[in-house]
Amino acid sequence: VKLSFTGLSNTEKGRSGTIAMLQDVTDQEKLEDSRREFVANVSHELRTPLTTIKSYVEALEDGAINDPQLAGKFISVTRNETERMIRLVTDLLQLSRLDSKQATLSKEYTNVFEMLEEVADRFSFQLEQRGIKIVIEVAPFLEEIKIDRDRIDQVLDNLVSNAIKYTSEQGHIRIGARLPDPDMLEIAVQDNGIGIPKKDLSRIFERFYRVDKARSRNMGGTGLGLSIAREIVRLHGGNVWLDSEFGQGTKVTFTLPYPGDEEAAL
Ligand code: ADP
Repeated sequence: VKLSFTGLSNTEKGRSGTIAMLQDVTDQEKLEDSRREFVANVSHELRTPLTTIKSYVEALEDGAINDPQLAGKFISVTRNETERMIRLVTDLLQLSRLDSKQATLSKEYTNVFEMLEEVADRFSFQLEQRGIKIVIEVAPFLEEIKIDRDRIDQVLDNLVSNAIKYTSEQGHIRIGARLPDPDMLEIAVQDNGIGIPKKDLSRIFERFYRVDKARSRNMGGTGLGLSIAREIVRLHGGNVWLDSEFGQGTKVTFTLPYPGDEEAAL
């Protein structure tokens, strides 16, 4: 519970020192709790693939190595689990860089339509494999926007890869860009996939929060994609939110200052 000073009378103000301390303690405890939870999550996420690797290597030692077919299968599981750990550690490193106050943006002018087309190109193999159609719709006469291209690419990659992961075969994805305000670009990635139940929506941007852990793991997810996307968008001075209807689909929208070059806007 957060205590606040508003509405206190003069006599109550006399005790405000105590109240301020209580608030500090509560905030401090919340921070400690979330740190503990984060470390527990990281440990668990790393332990799971390590345990799997250990048991497959043991099975190989115990004789599976002499059965070429079985051995091949076990080695490929081991490689997949190693790749999962690398993805996880890469995501964690990135989050920690974004968290540290030194995170800086290296901005360049970017053509929005070309950027979105390139995202779709990066996923063309997966899209084709799963029979998912993608359309890009960009408002006409968009100027180039000044953004950290690598980082916004990462946001788009995370959102499009989610849209693919959580959409069944023959699904549809739409990436749209428009100007809801003259000084704001809005990009939305929408799918007609499995959607997210109402009860999970408020926690979906939390680190490691997943609706279905098994499904996310099977699809190669780390549970950090949306948190990373949110950090990057906020660093640009934008906002990100998610609308979803369970069983119908999901739309993730983010905004960026447009054209993103303060000097030019003067
Ligand atoms: P993950 O690596 O698990 O995909 P994210 O942080 O990217 O982690 O997403 C968190 C969770 O949000 C996912 O596990 C999934 O349950 C849900 N989610 C994200 N995007 C979508 C989407 N487009 N459709 C349905 N569920 C989604």
